[in-house]
Amino acid sequence: MNPTPTLTGQAALVTGSDSGIGKGVALELAAAGAKVIINYAHNHDAADATVAEIKAAGGEAIAIQADVSHEEEVKAMFAQMFETYGTIDILVNNAGLQKDSKFVDMTLADWNTVISINLTGQFLCSREAAKEFIRRGVVQDRSRAAGKIICMSSVHEVIPWAGHVNYAASKGGISMFMKSIAQELAPHKIRVVGIGPGAIQTPINKAAWDTPEALEKLLTLIPYNRIGKPNDIGKLAAWLASDQADYITGTTIFMDGGMTLYPGFADNG
Ligand code: NAD
Repeated sequence: MNPTPTLTGQAALVTGSDSGIGKGVALELAAAGAKVIINYAHNHDAADATVAEIKAAGGEAIAIQADVSHEEEVKAMFAQMFETYGTIDILVNNAGLQKDSKFVDMTLADWNTVISINLTGQFLCSREAAKEFIRRGVVQDRSRAAGKIICMSSVHEVIPWAGHVNYAASKGGISMFMKSIAQELAPHKIRVVGIGPGAIQTPINKAAWDTPEALEKLLTLIPYNRIGKPNDIGKLAAWLASDQADYITGTTIFMDGGMTLYPGFADNG
């Protein structure tokens, strides 16, 4: 476990944490001392495996199934969390997916699915968390903030992405959603921060790294010349949720090996 736990006694909910980045975040929050809800959409076995991994390392976690785009399921998940851990201190809005196609071929169903899960899901979960943060307020000796919300965005919050218009629109939306609620909730001592990952090795982008040719092409977009790992993002999330980051709110931290430096311009001046 983390030798200097910074989240001891705090209750965290990480949406979509049976896989990829969310799992990496859940493991790091637990290592920092938080009790963690492992939310998942469908894969019960993977959620159980994440809970087991946290417990094996001496941490505390339970799994809760809920589709973050369904209001009643989100409310039921929060009710179960409050029953189990009493409250919430940290929400990580991580659940997300892609439904890619050329713009002119994009169906309304694929547009709606991506916006509902990636953007509306963050709205539904943040609203429930914010209500509880405001009701409870700051707890002495636990955290300087009444609550922390971390919104998983993407480099596609700022980099346009042809063939992925629904996904890029959802991430651009998260940026203004995050900033606007940060502005509204700051007087309540609630911090809201975005994380903008670059290419992180997870199932969502397997086609971009699972052959040497694909990886080589991907690395041309990453000046630092390596693909990111879920625990890179996990460690950032644990730090952002801690009091070490108490003066950060309303901004996105990009963690991308330099992808947002537009490397295509490096030798085109
Ligand atoms: P992943 O496919 O491994 O994980 C996605 C997670 O979302 C899964 O745990 C899944 O259960 C969950 N999920 C999907 N639909 C859900 C729903 N309706 N309700 C609840 N949970 C649901 O992919 P990942 O790469 O770990 O992606 C996690 C987040 O990181 C996403 O928001 C994604 O947009 C973002 N992101 C990923 C990358 C990357 O390179 N991997 C880069 C930038 C941003």
